[in-house]
Amino acid sequence: MKFTDLGLSDKVLAAVQQAGYQEPTPIQAKAIPIAVEGRDVVGIAQTGTGKTASFVLPMLTRLERGRARARMPRSLILEPTRELAAQVAQSFEELGGKHKLTVALLIGGVSFEEQYRKLDRGADVLIATPGRLLDHFERGKLLLTAVDVFVIDEADRMLDMGFIPDIERICGLLSPARQTLFFSATMPPEIEKLTHKFLNAPERVSV
Ligand code: AMP
Repeated sequence: MKFTDLGLSDKVLAAVQQAGYQEPTPIQAKAIPIAVEGRDVVGIAQTGTGKTASFVLPMLTRLERGRARARMPRSLILEPTRELAAQVAQSFEELGGKHKLTVALLIGGVSFEEQYRKLDRGADVLIATPGRLLDHFERGKLLLTAVDVFVIDEADRMLDMGFIPDIERICGLLSPARQTLFFSATMPPEIEKLTHKFLNAPERVSV
């Protein structure tokens, strides 16, 4: 399998080449063709398998047209920890440099003001931890109804950290027409239940 077989845009393929990725990892080869078509994915994969690019690359392809309006992000990635959120933001910088998308990192331990400014300017991509995202929502700084692509990463860690009620609340704020890409290293019953409740006929891939 080659990157050129996955349905990614030319601009994204150029970014992949620039990053020095020679060929897709197994999770990328399986998840990307489904995700670029706009379908929901449940991906069972650990960190280190290349799973970040398996959602970042199709998101970049899907976000090429259009721009975000103030306080109405077009995509949302939820991560369980600040560190993971910051790492995903780095991957966006590495792979999405040519796309000129506005990326806002909404995590705790950073001032709200800087995050407001990004949201006001219109963020195409939000990368957030659940608590901080809901804080912004409650302060009226954010609407999630324009989110077209929603990613839940490390779902089993979200469960361990007690974030499932927050995730359920966030899912309720999104449009039912969105695409959801759901990743977890393991599939305990609570996580399985979540995929049935919040995803639309997902394709399941595992590595
Ligand atoms: P992840 O599992 O998403 O944390 O990715 C692990 C590491 O693999 C990161 O440093 C990526 O930059 C790198 N990586 C992801 N996909 C590829 C690929 N197709 N070829 C080479 N390196 C990759």
